[in-house]
Amino acid sequence: MKDSIYKIPLFALNYGVEEEQAVLEVLNSKWISSGPKCQELENLFCQLFNSKYALAVTNCTSALHMSLVALGVGQGDEVIVPSLTFVATANAIKYVGATPVFCDIASYENLTIDPERIRKLITPRTRAIIVMHYAGFPCDMSAINEIARENNLRIIEDACHAPLSDYGSRKLGTLGDFGCFSFFSNKNISTGEGGLLLTQDIDLYEKTKLLRSHGMTSLSYERSTGHQTTYDVVDLGFNYRLDDIRASLGIVQLNKLSSDLNKRKTLREYYIDKLVKIDGLIIPFCEYHDFVSNYIFPIVLKDSNHQKRDRLRELLRSRGIQTSVHYPAVHRFELYNDKTTCLEITEYVSDCEITLPFYSSLTKEKIDYIVTTLNEFITVNEVPCAV
Ligand SMILES: *Cc1c(COP(=O)(O)O)cnc(C)c1O
Repeated sequence: MKDSIYKIPLFALNYGVEEEQAVLEVLNSKWISSGPKCQELENLFCQLFNSKYALAVTNCTSALHMSLVALGVGQGDEVIVPSLTFVATANAIKYVGATPVFCDIASYENLTIDPERIRKLITPRTRAIIVMHYAGFPCDMSAINEIARENNLRIIEDACHAPLSDYGSRKLGTLGDFGCFSFFSNKNISTGEGGLLLTQDIDLYEKTKLLRSHGMTSLSYERSTGHQTTYDVVDLGFNYRLDDIRASLGIVQLNKLSSDLNKRKTLREYYIDKLVKIDGLIIPFCEYHDFVSNYIFPIVLKDSNHQKRDRLRELLRSRGIQTSVHYPAVHRFELYNDKTTCLEITEYVSDCEITLPFYSSLTKEKIDYIVTTLNEFITVNEVPCAV
């Protein structure tokens, strides 16, 4: 374990001997690139998410990129996307030469893209909507699917935060044309780097399967096992393949995900019970009770600004509590520098949100310490966010 100034980190890996054994098994098999473990991971995703097709890929960014390529989105097209997301969601739109059109979120309590505001941003150039299920809480997919149907738009779900989140009887990531997942170290499923794409459409599946590996009609594993002897190249593809070492980690992680998420559910309830007693805090999705992945634990300070928020984060840091911000609004980054866009709710949340430590092995004692410290700084010092 690396040295850290933090008593309580933002996130802790849920790793054990099973991960170690899985990797050793792959190393000893002498097949380490994309092969049987990737297929096993894809099959497991299809089963658990009740999805028709799955493709293991290098990361979520490549999944988003391939989704847009496969849907034929390109130069001159517009794609509606939230600004309160990780920058990769919007970057993927730029990769294909299209224009991201940033949309505000629903409210301080519901940090997902607002369907009514999506409607107002649609132009003749709009081709697709990328939604992002913040912290694993679902966007209003019934309203968004309706908007997409009426306007002939495609939907990509950035489901990085949302593995195994329920949406009625379905799973997030299976409601749009594509669902994109990340296995980056700090995600619910951790493999270091990695990702996966879900789709329910055979043509989109075939297309992205080609794009994943240089547009080649056969894979090296298929040739090594004698199933294929040659290949053609039929499309301008990429190398977005996952390897079997990481896939084996993904299988172990996915198999223990439900139990991890159940622990998170209990911890979230405990956190909320304590936090509601502090004035000056908004707890997003506080009233939401369906089963979700609970990827992160965000709070939003009332009547605050980014200076007060940053000061509070600094105070928490001085007591050994690591926090983060999800997210700096994408439209305010220099790369996007979109001064004409005004997204009131997104900008406020971006300035006044704090992400508290959250992971399945977090203890109630640690939550008590976090909440007590937070309460002390908010109500006693009254510096950061006096109401
Ligand atoms: C992590 C994350 C990504 C990027 O995933 P990578 O696998 O690192 O490419 C994209 N969008 C969201 C919302 C994320 O949290």
